[in-house]
Amino acid sequence: MGNKYWSDIVSELDPYVPGEQPKLANLVKLNTNENPYGPSPKVREAVIAELGDQLRLYPDPNADLLKQAIAHLYDMSVDQVFVGNGSDEVLAHIFQALLKHDAPILFPDVTYSFYPVYCGLYRVPYEQVPLTENLSLNVADYQRVNGGIIFPNPNAPTGQLLPLSDIESLLQHNKDSVVVVDEAYIDFGGESAVALVGRYPNLLVTQTLSKSRSLAGLRVGFAIGEPSLIVALERVKNSFNSYPLDRLAIVGGVAAIEDDAYFEKTRQQVIASREQLALALSSMGFAVLPSTANFLLVSHLTQAAAKLSVDLRARGIIVRHFNQCRIDQYLRITIGLPEQNQQLLDALQEILDS
Ligand SMILES: *Cc1c(COP(=O)(O)O)cnc(C)c1O
Repeated sequence: MGNKYWSDIVSELDPYVPGEQPKLANLVKLNTNENPYGPSPKVREAVIAELGDQLRLYPDPNADLLKQAIAHLYDMSVDQVFVGNGSDEVLAHIFQALLKHDAPILFPDVTYSFYPVYCGLYRVPYEQVPLTENLSLNVADYQRVNGGIIFPNPNAPTGQLLPLSDIESLLQHNKDSVVVVDEAYIDFGGESAVALVGRYPNLLVTQTLSKSRSLAGLRVGFAIGEPSLIVALERVKNSFNSYPLDRLAIVGGVAAIEDDAYFEKTRQQVIASREQLALALSSMGFAVLPSTANFLLVSHLTQAAAKLSVDLRARGIIVRHFNQCRIDQYLRITIGLPEQNQQLLDALQEILDS
């Protein structure tokens, strides 16, 4: 692969492989942690209202309306907020602006698989810190020289939550490097580390509207931290793309954040479904990791995960199987609508009975 026109860095890249986005519409899609409910109806209204002649104009390069909505949500000031085209883009800028140093950065061995990809792209040295036997994160394992620390909370794909007291201990032991808490799933039951931002100048928290606000298709993510960290991200952003958020994303994102009633209702529905599904799967012989996310990581006591995944697919249901050591006997199942979760259980029962 590759040819003489490629730069060295391109030849060496090991790109992220996203979960499948199937073209078939009638599949039960439980593989990429999207929200089963649509976004707030107010998003639709706001986006339609923006669909006029103003689309000939560039959007606000600073997306101030969106930053204000996020700042207001968390009782922060606008200069503590950074926004990007999905939190993946925000994370990319973080790796380049704040995590690239001589010492290796640290992240768990089982975690969001985009982190090592960014390390490859930006040539950031890293070390993977093994999760404990039961796949939980032990902050004491992070007490070593590092150029930064990053992990999702709750972790992905395990769903396990680290309490704020552990995050605080991590911050206290790592005052010389940036600690990034990737809160893509925090709204499904965790307590946000944004509450610690004023006290720790080395803390950066990222979130996304893709999961709990049902807007994976609009691409809106953000980071909250000390203004000096935000300035570093703005410097990279303004050296890369002045307009990462288009006009529709800005107004749609604001509408989603402002519709608190809809947000509360749908996230509580997802949480309730998660607890029901966890119980049902346990009773079918699955070990279910405790999750505060919108997915479950499960392992069957007798059936191979790869085979279960193929058999589910044959029945029109897609879940995520990671062909990766330590979790190759697990399936990650996104919480769907109640009827989709039931279809999953029925299909699994059929497979187990056959
Ligand atoms: C989904 C996810 C993201 C990326 O979200 P986008 O905002 O859609 O780019 C980041 N981190 C983790 C752990 C995720 O699961």
